[in-house]
Amino acid sequence: MENSSQIALVGLDRSETTALVERAGEAAYRAGQLLEAVYRQRVEAIEEISTLPQALRVKLASDGVSVGMPRIEKRFLSQDGTVRYLIGFADGQTVETVWMPEGDGGEAGDGTEAGAAVEGRRWDRATICVSSQVGCAVDCQFCLTALLGVKRNLTAGEIVGQVCALLKDRNVVPPEDRVNLVFMGMGEPFLNYENFMKAVRLLVEEVGVAESRMTVSTAGIVPRIRDFGKEAIRPKLAISLNASNDELRTRLMPLNRKWNLEMLMAAAREFPLRNRERITFEYVLLNEVNDAPEHAKEVVELLRGLRAKVNLIALNPGPGIAFATPAQDRVAEFQQVLVKAGIPAFVRRPRGRDIYAACGQLKRTVEIATSPAR
Ligand code: SF4
Repeated sequence: MENSSQIALVGLDRSETTALVERAGEAAYRAGQLLEAVYRQRVEAIEEISTLPQALRVKLASDGVSVGMPRIEKRFLSQDGTVRYLIGFADGQTVETVWMPEGDGGEAGDGTEAGAAVEGRRWDRATICVSSQVGCAVDCQFCLTALLGVKRNLTAGEIVGQVCALLKDRNVVPPEDRVNLVFMGMGEPFLNYENFMKAVRLLVEEVGVAESRMTVSTAGIVPRIRDFGKEAIRPKLAISLNASNDELRTRLMPLNRKWNLEMLMAAAREFPLRNRERITFEYVLLNEVNDAPEHAKEVVELLRGLRAKVNLIALNPGPGIAFATPAQDRVAEFQQVLVKAGIPAFVRRPRGRDIYAACGQLKRTVEIATSPAR
């Protein structure tokens, strides 16, 4: 192994870790110790792995192997308990990862609200919102991440590393502690499909988060929805709908030109759901754009016959976004149309509004604040 090439342990699966220790001239069982140290104990440096002989720690370090855990660069604490993290990687790029204690208002896929706090603890379950790309190429018109454009895909290690960094920071150990993961942060996971799926497998097999506790949200990359349905290990599926007809959806989400509602809903209908599983449809309500009762009736028609539920999200306004937040009664009226038609529909609680906690807002806000032009 060359000294010049850097290898991060976080992101390696069992067979890759085994190959690494064998190349270093060690027995394969050492791989288990490395995996345990990285994914369960969440060490930050090889020197901390006390189960390994000192000579092997030195050898790995001299081979250019490091743990490679992402750094927590900033934390923003909201009054509602949400903590928004700016996470930095080796090349200086950053993403956002969000800790939401006491539930998530519905993103987890079960539609439940937060449970009561457990004695001695401020939360009884929590949700981590994970990013999959630096920025995003999808260009949804109501999203601050879209304004960043896409810089690059995250590696599997960078996706898993966000989760490990937060679990360590919050002192949380799944599966004993109830943690849900939602892949709804920056980026479109299905445009970084292989890395995203590898990260999912590592999270299930090595970190200890059950796949039933994970939900991935896609803007509607139809071929990948079909691939995703064939995966042996997969999170639950959420589709970011946001409009009730093609004209409106193309305006709000230009990718609808490539995969329109007919194609999207066909993929949703053919998606192989498990027992009691539903597809979640997310709908960001934009004042007097997509939030009229007529739009809700069109959504009812789109979802007819599907095992689905809807999460309604009143827009979290932000700098550079040309839409407004609807009044509560408009949101309630929209919800009622769906509920009366037999579609479970939940209004997601806004989280961390005081810290710009909508997708992409923290990074964008930090960039604006630190831009030399301002
Ligand atoms: S809403 Fe999601 S898919 Fe759309 S631009 Fe923002 S990050 Fe990308």
